[in-house]
Amino acid sequence: MKEHLTGMLLVISGPSGVGKGTLVKWLMSRDPSIVFSVSATTRAPREGEVNHRDYHFVTEEEYDRLLAEDAFLEHATVHAHRYGTLKSEVEERIAKGQNVLLDIDVQGALQVMEKAPDAVSVFILPPSFEELERRLRGRQTETEADIERRLANARAEVKLLPRYTYAIVNNDLDRACQTLEHIVLAEKQRTTRYLAALTEDE
Ligand code: ADP
Ligand code: 5GP
Repeated sequence: MKEHLTGMLLVISGPSGVGKGTLVKWLMSRDPSIVFSVSATTRAPREGEVNHRDYHFVTEEEYDRLLAEDAFLEHATVHAHRYGTLKSEVEERIAKGQNVLLDIDVQGALQVMEKAPDAVSVFILPPSFEELERRLRGRQTETEADIERRLANARAEVKLLPRYTYAIVNNDLDRACQTLEHIVLAEKQRTTRYLAALTEDE
């Protein structure tokens, strides 16, 4: 059987500070079949963030131009900044059999689920809102106003949990990483990913 499978669209969401970035880095270090979709954003880079690796950092004008060109698979205003997934980061790669990971907010995830019902969606939950606040503050990357806004949004975001395929509580980090890896391993075995390979062999 040929090993040319259809790629997976893997959507990861969860409140800011819950540990998405940490889980995603770990997963990608373990699984080279996964490529990260680098989003465009109008937010300013944080210390240590690299343009075109973490985000495509764009001006408001550049973002407007991308919108006008219909370059986004989904886009949303999140915590007062604009973010969007570029079609160019996703579509060809899926067709080539790569697994593309999107770390996006709930508004964007719902748009993707609508357009790509076979996307695999995982919602990361904090053990508690108190712990979420501790992590967000511990990261020391946001202003006080930003932290308050992110915490307020978190309560609305978790209400959308039932729209996702899977949930993981990120309490013990090792356990959460392993659960995520198991989800990906199982999802890779869906029969639908093998259909292209079967047709090619005929
Ligand atoms: P997000 O990408 O969801 O905003 P990060 O990955 O930046 O979140 O994590 C926020 C903070 O929480 C970081 O300082 C990270 O090291 C820490 N963190 C992540 N997972 C855990 C965990 N399971 N237990 C304790 N701290 C964690
Ligand atoms: P941060 O500013 O902390 O990097 O991200 C803030 C939020 O924006 C997170 O919930 C993150 O998942 C989300 N986000 C990042 N990129 C995108 C994107 O392209 N589209 C959408 N809808 N959300 C995004």
